[in-house]
Amino acid sequence: MGKGNKGKIDSLGRVVIPKSIRNALGINHNDEISMTVENNTLLISKGYKNCSICNSKTVSTQVRDKLLCDSCISDIKSL
Ligand SMILES: [Zn+2]
Repeated sequence: MGKGNKGKIDSLGRVVIPKSIRNALGINHNDEISMTVENNTLLISKGYKNCSICNSKTVSTQVRDKLLCDSCISDIKSL
C-alpha cells in the first residue's frame, strides 16, 4: 500500500475516490462498486450486483436485501 489518501465527506455524504486509487483498482466512470463495513472500517470494492441465488450478473429485482435475476424469479414463481 502507498501513502494514505485523505478526503472529506461533503454535505450529501459523497466522497471523491482519488484517481490513483481508481486507477489501482481499475474503477472507471459508471462502474459498480460495493461498500461494506467491517471492523468499523468502510471497504469500497469494485463489484457488480450478482443474483443472490445463482450469481448471474443480470439482476433485475431486489427483494429486501437480496438481488434476484429473471431466471430465479421465474423458478421461485413456479414453486
Ligand atoms: Zn439467479
